[in-house]
Amino acid sequence: MNKHCPCGTNKSYSLCCQPLHQRLAQAQTAKQLMMSRYCAFAQHHIDYIVDTHAPATRHEVVKNDISQWAKECQWLSLLIINDQCSGDHATVEFVAWYHSNNQLQFHHELSHFIYEDKQWFFHHGETPTNQIQLPKRNDSCICNSGKKFKKCCG
Ligand SMILES: [Zn+2]
Ligand SMILES: [Zn+2]
Repeated sequence: MNKHCPCGTNKSYSLCCQPLHQRLAQAQTAKQLMMSRYCAFAQHHIDYIVDTHAPATRHEVVKNDISQWAKECQWLSLLIINDQCSGDHATVEFVAWYHSNNQLQFHHELSHFIYEDKQWFFHHGETPTNQIQLPKRNDSCICNSGKKFKKCCG
């Protein structure tokens, strides 16, 4: 399988997020964890989403809700807008594009991560105040297909 990993790298899944999902490796940075969590959504590895949630806020996770959301949507691509790290705290701002009921939708979030027990965990997310622009019809598509937006996911 030489398809690119759903998280948006140019590596194959087996060399990218799969070792993380199989717990054979750990995310080295909050950004990498973010990408692997998006990828887990796209591939319905719900246990991974739960396990990478910080123990302190894990009780907020409703597994069935995540599972349903993950399955209802067709995940198109992940765009990392910004990532910052200082010590054991990091933030990653991202947009996840998806189709739901044949509509292009996006989830825009500023995620907070903490480093605890020698690994990164997702802690909580907030909605950023800045607005996301939808691509223009002739822009290249958000899914990195190389096609124009209007001819692809738009
Ligand atoms: Zn990946
Ligand atoms: Zn597309």
